[in-house]
Amino acid sequence: MIQRLHRSDLGNSLRSLMENDPAFRPVAYFSMEVGLKESIPTYSGGLGVLAGDILKSAADLGVPMAGVTLLYKKGYFVQEFNQDDWQQQKPVVWDPAKELTLLPNRVNITIQGRDIQVAVWVYELIGATGYPLPVYFLDTDIEPNHPDDRKLCWYLYGGDNRYRLCQEFILGVGGLRMLRDLGYMNIETFHLNEGHAGFLTLELMRELGYYDPDKIRSQVVFTTHTPVPAGHDYFDFGLINQVFPPDALATITRMMPNMPGVSMTELGLRYSRYINGVAKKHAEVSNAMFKMETVDWITNGIHPTTWISSGMRKLYNKHIPGWELDPGRLVQALTIPKEELWTAHQASKLRLLARVLETNGVQLDPNVLTLGFARRAATYKRADLLLSDISRLKKIAGGGKVQFIFSGKAHPSDDGGKALLQKIRRASKELGDSVKIVFIDNYNMEIASLLTQGVDVWLNTPIRPREASGTSGMKCAMNGIMNFSVLDGWWIEGWIEDVTGWSIGPDATETEANANYDEKLDADDLYEKLEKKVIPTYYEDHDKWVDMMRHTIALDASFFNTHRVVREYAAKAYSIDFRGM
Ligand SMILES: *Cc1c(COP(=O)(O)O)cnc(C)c1O
Repeated sequence: MIQRLHRSDLGNSLRSLMENDPAFRPVAYFSMEVGLKESIPTYSGGLGVLAGDILKSAADLGVPMAGVTLLYKKGYFVQEFNQDDWQQQKPVVWDPAKELTLLPNRVNITIQGRDIQVAVWVYELIGATGYPLPVYFLDTDIEPNHPDDRKLCWYLYGGDNRYRLCQEFILGVGGLRMLRDLGYMNIETFHLNEGHAGFLTLELMRELGYYDPDKIRSQVVFTTHTPVPAGHDYFDFGLINQVFPPDALATITRMMPNMPGVSMTELGLRYSRYINGVAKKHAEVSNAMFKMETVDWITNGIHPTTWISSGMRKLYNKHIPGWELDPGRLVQALTIPKEELWTAHQASKLRLLARVLETNGVQLDPNVLTLGFARRAATYKRADLLLSDISRLKKIAGGGKVQFIFSGKAHPSDDGGKALLQKIRRASKELGDSVKIVFIDNYNMEIASLLTQGVDVWLNTPIRPREASGTSGMKCAMNGIMNFSVLDGWWIEGWIEDVTGWSIGPDATETEANANYDEKLDADDLYEKLEKKVIPTYYEDHDKWVDMMRHTIALDASFFNTHRVVREYAAKAYSIDFRGM
């Protein structure tokens, strides 16, 4: 469904669209990372995958959008482990020319006192009804650039703060200049997926030729993703001084007066006409953190046909025709015959278990309750909560009652995350056959897909309120898989106890007790519910289990998808009509 046009067709359909369609009012979607598929390794996690999913849904629905991001020649990284189970990062070898098309356009920017040429590659998404949507990847690794400038497009989250400032200047300023060079003169909305591309406001101001913050604000939409201040990019003016050319420096100094530096979130907040968080709770947390009342929310989703298994897709097509363009129709999932649903699920599970046997040499049992946990190994995600009381875990899950599959990458400079992975891998070896825990190396979109289609339950145990939204659990819901999760991010909205899954820890209301809640207690609740609810339902009440699967599809998959997300952005943030899909 999503595919590339042949090289010779490239751009023609878009060009005719731009020239002939009077309703063409483009939106430019800027994201530091975009995850379209595992063979384009220019993403590290949820932010990039979300961007990719949103662009895919926009293509499916005919929303006039273009994506802009950076090309990372060395990708994120390939994950390996040494004898001590300590993560090693190996460079990704990939050839952009195999996936993308280099366009002839070049624009110039100046950073660190040097002129740099920026090139651009394009990947054209073709939506379900044939609508083309280009994603542009900016690249400085070309002749005649200085060797240091060529390296600026090598690593995603790879260098120091200065490297990152240069990258964000390329994305914001270079990105907008490139769009103009490509012929996009009538963009009405610049959507910042997180603050990284915020410097495009400088270029908008330069184009304008005089200082008018309101004119800039009226063109920008900002989506924040980080519920903690420490997560926001910050550059002090000392550094900005060394990197920016004089005109940009003068503008940013005027735009952010009386400050020691620039927080990209603050820049986004000040110069956008619409601001949103990525779940209801996240908007509340953001409003409190920024001392604002105007942060709206548009809860994230996932792209339906990217994340659904082929078996489930067939099943939905048979029983709920039209769901692919209108996933809201999945409310009808209660009509899917239970045995057909179970068969489709088991097929995905067998595929996952075959992969585990192949990569880990461990034979898991398709009739054993299988829990999955996979995400970036950031410490706040607490991948090890399950392991906090090993003897209790053995008592509850031992004897072949539950098997676990983990996966996840730690950021190269995050030793805390690496220690988490080490702990899981060591526990897996120590527990052996008493509780089977397998770890699949090198988490990426392909592994994510196998896991979120093939496990029975998806576990998520972040420290509240750190999970702005989370999206992997939505991929599971699309496949009728229940979540068993701390009430944070999207799950607060998707959770109905014993219907779409199970909660861990306290509910999400802001009571005194919750404010002082000891997060360690989550482990108790996790063990308690695993023992008293999840395990008995799986083994003793198959009928209820499959009914919960159907409710998960009807209540969660019908809503937590990017088709709904894109429609919300179009209506609330872009104020555009599109082809009306
Ligand atoms: C979906 C996805 C994520 C995001 O998962 P969260 O639950 O939001 O942490 C991260 N990495 C990959 C590879 C994914 O496919």
